[in-house]
Amino acid sequence: MSSDDFKMAPAEVVWHGGHVQPEDRSRLLGQRPLTVWLTGLSASGKSTLAYALERSLVDMGHASYVLDGDNVRHGLNRNLGFSHEDRTENIRRIAEVARLMNDAGLIVLTAFISPYREDRLLAREIIGPERFVEIHVCTPIATCEARDPKGMYKRAREGVIQGFTGVGAPYEPPDPPAMKIDTSIVSLPKCVEMVISGLVGRIALHASSNADVA
Ligand code: ADP
Repeated sequence: MSSDDFKMAPAEVVWHGGHVQPEDRSRLLGQRPLTVWLTGLSASGKSTLAYALERSLVDMGHASYVLDGDNVRHGLNRNLGFSHEDRTENIRRIAEVARLMNDAGLIVLTAFISPYREDRLLAREIIGPERFVEIHVCTPIATCEARDPKGMYKRAREGVIQGFTGVGAPYEPPDPPAMKIDTSIVSLPKCVEMVISGLVGRIALHASSNADVA
């Protein structure tokens, strides 16, 4: 399966438009939708940051939702493994869900290793570049491995887990991301502050579209 196979619906499937426009939803929710795509190694801090951002955004009055790697694999993507092909399909489905959530007006925070540049480009294309903010959680592998909260690096080094990102499979960093965050040197509250201050101009309904996070 190539990425082109994902783009076309059968000819008999016709798009059915509705009566509510994106501006109507934005007015209703008082925000402009966005997907904040967190990418980085396992244990780099993506989920922790995504949920802390969700908490802060909701506290600020913004309808937000986290799509988290492990959680999505419990349901929607439970039939996918970690081969290159399955990782691509994992990201494609998540991007489609993020797009739907953005269409519904929500701010989406995604926490997926998403190690391949090509897959993230596909996600950007599906979601729309104007709604896609890529943040590299660039915590060094030594720190991730020292944290190893699920013992995954240990099992990967022992050869029990094959193709683990950073050990038996590559991680391709974004070039360049909108923002880089190294959680080995930046505290969680500071990480949240950095991201939120970069997003404020993008999500506020009446602010200019120029913001720190491009
Ligand atoms: P990921 O989602 O990238 O796999 P997690 O969010 O599960 O990573 O975080 C892995 C570990 O790193 C957790 O034990 C978490 O408490 C810790 N951690 C995350 N962010 C920070 C931070 N900014 N400072 C210190 N420790 C952090």
